[in-house]
Amino acid sequence: MLKKSKPISLIFSAFIALHPLVADDIRVVATASMIADMAKEIGGDLIKVQCVVPIGGDPHIYDPTPGDAQMVAQANLILRNGLTFEGWLTELIENSGTKAKNILVTEGVVAIKSLIYENATDPHAWMDASNGLIYIRNIKDALIKLDPANSTTYQSRYEAYAKRLEELDQYIFQRIKTIPESKRILITSHDAFQYYGKRYGIRLESVLGTSTDAEVQTADIVRLNRVIKESGIPALFVESTINPKVLEQIASDNHLQIGGKLYSDSIGNKDSPAPSYYDMLKHNTDVIVAALSAPKLYIPQQKTTSPYTTIIYILIGLTMVISLIVLTVKFNR
Ligand SMILES: [Zn+2]
Repeated sequence: MLKKSKPISLIFSAFIALHPLVADDIRVVATASMIADMAKEIGGDLIKVQCVVPIGGDPHIYDPTPGDAQMVAQANLILRNGLTFEGWLTELIENSGTKAKNILVTEGVVAIKSLIYENATDPHAWMDASNGLIYIRNIKDALIKLDPANSTTYQSRYEAYAKRLEELDQYIFQRIKTIPESKRILITSHDAFQYYGKRYGIRLESVLGTSTDAEVQTADIVRLNRVIKESGIPALFVESTINPKVLEQIASDNHLQIGGKLYSDSIGNKDSPAPSYYDMLKHNTDVIVAALSAPKLYIPQQKTTSPYTTIIYILIGLTMVISLIVLTVKFNR
């Protein structure tokens, strides 16, 4: 249990007034919503969990607010993903002046190298449930270290949660196997599914690289169009945190349907189909399997008639009418 802090000076009292902190509260701040959810599963009512990047936000390109600095200042424990995910975190921690312990929840994960950036790693390790098990073990260990008096509760909650994630891992394996082998290709907005694909046997192609902080290149679109034609896959997928425009255009150009919305860099809100880390992986799997196992539907390209086309049609019509009148007049002479 945390020791109660006793205000011993006026300055310290003033600090407490500015930052009302009940010393018994264990305040855990996670950078991203899936990590916050894991902490809630293990800590239950014993801890207060807050998240820097809100649900639906994009942790790759987040811009911390003064409120975030205050939240981090009051924290006892900070949980971060690392692997070049939260580029903004170091500055936020420095600005907040926090004394909180800072834990890398991916400690022990075998990182995948970034396909695009040298010396960078792919941060999306949580998409593989076996990595999720490493995340939750690190979180459990950190909570027990911080609050040993409640270690039994953390341990038993962790064990129950780990069992569910192990079952989920097997569930994903079984489900992905039901997709015809040639159709096990996942096309999304950004490369968030490399760990998922590596673990469960599905090939990945994306419009952007491992970060969302990049411009779409024509070469990438050409590459995707080729993969779509060669594989005959029936669907593409949009992501909850990324503008779907480019992906929708590629789908329309190739007469494909959007197979559904996947959750990669954030869980969904409580009314969504993915309100937790567990649901996020399960929902993504169900959506992917249903869409890629379905027969290919012919989706007609959306017709956008420009005003110029209309004018040209009118002019052609008028020319034909005038020619007809001229001819009629000539014959009647
Ligand atoms: Zn991402």
